[in-house]
Amino acid sequence: MTIRTLTILGATGSIGASTLDLVRRNRDGFRVVALTGHSNVAVLAALAREFAPEIVVIGDEARLPELREALAGTQIETAGGAQALIEAAQRPADVTVAAIVGCAGLAPTMAAIEQGRTVALANKEALVSAGGVMTRAVAQHGTTLLPVDSEHNAIFQCLAGNDPAHVRWITLTASGGPFRDWAADRLQHATPAEAVKHPNWSMGAKISVDSATMMNKGLEFIEAYHLFPVGVDRLRIIVHPQSIVHSMVEYRDGSTLAQLGPSDMRVPIASALAWPARMNTPCEPLDLAAIGTLTFRAPDEVRFPATRLAREAVMAGGAAAAVLNASNEIAVAAFLAGQIGFTRIVQCCEDVLGSGVPSPPQCLDEVIAVDREARVRAHEALVGAL
Ligand code: NDP
Ligand code: MG
Repeated sequence: MTIRTLTILGATGSIGASTLDLVRRNRDGFRVVALTGHSNVAVLAALAREFAPEIVVIGDEARLPELREALAGTQIETAGGAQALIEAAQRPADVTVAAIVGCAGLAPTMAAIEQGRTVALANKEALVSAGGVMTRAVAQHGTTLLPVDSEHNAIFQCLAGNDPAHVRWITLTASGGPFRDWAADRLQHATPAEAVKHPNWSMGAKISVDSATMMNKGLEFIEAYHLFPVGVDRLRIIVHPQSIVHSMVEYRDGSTLAQLGPSDMRVPIASALAWPARMNTPCEPLDLAAIGTLTFRAPDEVRFPATRLAREAVMAGGAAAAVLNASNEIAVAAFLAGQIGFTRIVQCCEDVLGSGVPSPPQCLDEVIAVDREARVRAHEALVGAL
């Protein structure tokens, strides 16, 4: 593999750490251009000292002096604020890993896409919100968009060399999250500490709560709709508690291709970093004899209505997915702050979607406007003012 230049947007997070762990083990394969974080100055500065990027950017501009102090005596450029994140994403890099959480990552991810190189996308909220605005930019700039989300990376691998016209089903697997066996009346008492304790994956707080509500699978359903042009009627979800089969594609001849692997994000990240080649990871080989049993069951949309809301948002088209994502971000933050109960998260999304959806956004600024307005309405829904 020739040396690749690499930018990581969201380097201080869980995906950022997994990506940099791979880079650390393949130092000859990559040169880091830019690293960004939002609030975690100590981790960002330590990563900068270790990987010597051209520039590091802290999203929260108020922390820039602290970052500068931490990097005093190095040659590394520093910057802060939302515009600086965009400028970092515009610096030429062969591969940009988009790993900021939430719609906050949309503008920098779009800036990376506009370079026309390769974007390894973890930041699903950006694609869910922008939808066609992002996929059109990918096509317009000739960008290679590689999914990092484990399910979509699995589907991408299962589709390789096949014509999407022959696809009968794309099946997204879902672990079901920590509450998959909880009775409906117990769910309303679920605490943030219980929600972030995912049975199989170690992830950031927001996506962990999304896994618990199944909104993560809802967002992934929308993500798959945009990444793989087979139509909403050919997408479905199945609960697979062991998280070994990461997703499947069934073709018209009855062949089903699946991608399997450990529940370790370094596997799909490595697949994207090295694509179309392969690189080593430190993950243990898959031992199916030790795992023994793989089980599957239909999702329960009565206890976990998030996937229904996501499907309805896709069918409604336009701005519905952006509204769903924005309301979910607000409600998850309120839940994590102890302000609302667990089941209010998805209820809030349904209330906001029910109160009206703006016309379809045609460009990045319009997506951001829809997102902002939906956030205001989600706050209103949470205080009962909607
Ligand atoms: P984390 O919360 O661990 O990390 C989020 C990153 O985004 C951090 O670098 C954080 O900076 C940064 N960030 C947060 N808010 C802002 C902001 N307003 N502006 C700029 N940067 C910001 O999340 P994860 O790594 O778990 O997830 C990242 C993305 O990848 C999400 O979209 C998630 O859905 C997706 N994903 C994650 C998986 C996982 O296993 N973790 C699996 C599949 C997808 P700081 O920490 O410095 O504040
Ligand atoms: Mg996933």
